[in-house]
Amino acid sequence: MADIRIENLRKEFGSFVAVQDSSFTVHDGEFLALLGPSGCGKTTTLRMIAGLELPSSGKIYLDGEDVTFNRASARDIAFVFQLFALYPHMNVRKNIGFPLLSQGMPKAEIRQRVDETARLLQIDHILNRSVSGLAGGDRQRVALGRAIVRRPKCFLMDEPLGTLDAEFREVMVHELRELHNRIHATTVYVTHDQHEAMAMADKIAVMNHGVIEQFGTPQEIYAKPATMYVADFIGSPPMNFMRFTSGLKSGDTSILLDGVDVAVPEIHQDMAESELALGVRPEHIRFSDASPLRGAVYGSEYLGTNQVVAVETRGSLIKARVPANRTFRIGETVGLEFNPVKLTLFDCTSGRAVPSQLYQETRHG
Ligand code: ATP
Repeated sequence: MADIRIENLRKEFGSFVAVQDSSFTVHDGEFLALLGPSGCGKTTTLRMIAGLELPSSGKIYLDGEDVTFNRASARDIAFVFQLFALYPHMNVRKNIGFPLLSQGMPKAEIRQRVDETARLLQIDHILNRSVSGLAGGDRQRVALGRAIVRRPKCFLMDEPLGTLDAEFREVMVHELRELHNRIHATTVYVTHDQHEAMAMADKIAVMNHGVIEQFGTPQEIYAKPATMYVADFIGSPPMNFMRFTSGLKSGDTSILLDGVDVAVPEIHQDMAESELALGVRPEHIRFSDASPLRGAVYGSEYLGTNQVVAVETRGSLIKARVPANRTFRIGETVGLEFNPVKLTLFDCTSGRAVPSQLYQETRHG
């Protein structure tokens, strides 16, 4: 297996910039998710790594070797578009062995490799069955088998679960991660689905208009979003923003919001008077009668183990995830309390998080 390193990778289609100077490393055995909405440049990035698209500028290294201008076939990468694409007239063994047959590998060796792969995927009992009669899960495993039988240096997957219904998708997310834990293949996985990325990936690159807004572990991206875009894209419901105008000084540990002092992680930068936003995740809000920060209940969504209650404050609509054991009336006044160590401040002009105690040690570019 291999490291993938991309440096200042850029792709222009005429005057349109699809990927803007991306740089990151996927270490040997890591699972990276490229996450973002439609059109943000995920597939273009993946196709450049695969050798299916030439970059306008920048470099791609595979295991330290510069492969930027190597043909796709010379990169030893398996590209999986959609896991269901099987050859219907062949049985399972022939489907899995096909890539090796195309390489001209001797039959005995193909047989051995296919047997090994089938054992790994726990489909060795169906090797002689026709793929057309298989259930969805087994078809998916066969398709995966065909990708891993070659033992490529890495896997590139473009929304491989895109066509599956929600329930089966969840099963496959679990299976793909399990498989990754067993074979530790360096993987780059494109998805627009935050749940898939959070559940499977060791690292996530969140993309927006061709730019990587943040690169980090799922935990870092969730707890310490580098930008308002990331904070809003990740989380369901997403992070709440409460806008206010203020100047901040390095060393400040509170802000004035709706006329109320709110404790925040210590600020590490002086800022001129500017428009700021306090970011708070719904689960870091508590209702407390003693809190002077007041709002009126706007609505609630019962979710069984908890509920999401929308509260209208002076300037914002805030969603709080609170225990399900209390019923709220529309219009009822509640006091809001935030967990101070979990709060993020953003500069609304740049959209970036304001450097603070929260970000001291683990910021990624
Ligand atoms: P999706 O999930 O919809 O595929 P994506 O994030 O993978 O989204 P890309 O397919 O990488 O996005 O496309 C990024 C942008 O580049 C899009 O605006 C797309 O229209 C544009 N683009 C992609 N390929 C080409 C091409 N060959 N010629 C012109 N524009 C292109």
